[in-house]
Amino acid sequence: MTAATARLLIVGPQGSGKGTQGVRIAEALDIPVVSTGDIFRANIKQGTELGQKVTAILDAGDLVPDELTSEIVRDRLSQDDAARGFLLDGYPRNTVQVEHLDAFLAKTGAALDAVILLDVPREESMARLSLRAVEQGRSDDTDEAIAHRLDIYENETAPIISVYAERGIVDRIDGVGSLDEITARISDALAARGIAQRV
Ligand code: AMP
Repeated sequence: MTAATARLLIVGPQGSGKGTQGVRIAEALDIPVVSTGDIFRANIKQGTELGQKVTAILDAGDLVPDELTSEIVRDRLSQDDAARGFLLDGYPRNTVQVEHLDAFLAKTGAALDAVILLDVPREESMARLSLRAVEQGRSDDTDEAIAHRLDIYENETAPIISVYAERGIVDRIDGVGSLDEITARISDALAARGIAQRV
């Protein structure tokens, strides 16, 4: 049975591969990926007002203020293509943002259907991020910023997992393996919840 909606969140430390897996899963389900990091980076590249506001914050590996971030997500999720579902990547990132998202979704009687937690050991994340720094030259991929972002993940983002676990919607997925293996693990977990491929 195919669920009527697929409102998903993918969580994991930076370097867990959540961006790559998120795109694969969203394509299979024919839903848009909503990545706050991508939205911020696109704005920085285009030199928008928002981009100018957040450049220094991203470079330092700090979090953009909650209200500003939540406003951007609310706008994006209000677009037509997100009506049937979406895959959030990078938001919510702390418990305040969980409350903002809950309040927004509740207005239409909606809620997240599943939270995919990609489990990757810290050393593996660090190694993958250092490689990405070399390959993509991201300005927030310095060793210092990477370590800072992993600390923020452990202190601020990891706690949101227990909030969602209490709701029984978290699927913990082993994030070590080949890309295809990991995608298959996620697809199986979602299928077990009645969220099946559409394309
Ligand atoms: P990401 O691509 O998800 O690793 O995000 C890159 C950067 O964008 C983060 O280090 C933060 O500076 C900022 N960012 C992304 N998502 C959020 C969020 N939900 N709340 C605050 N800042 C965010």
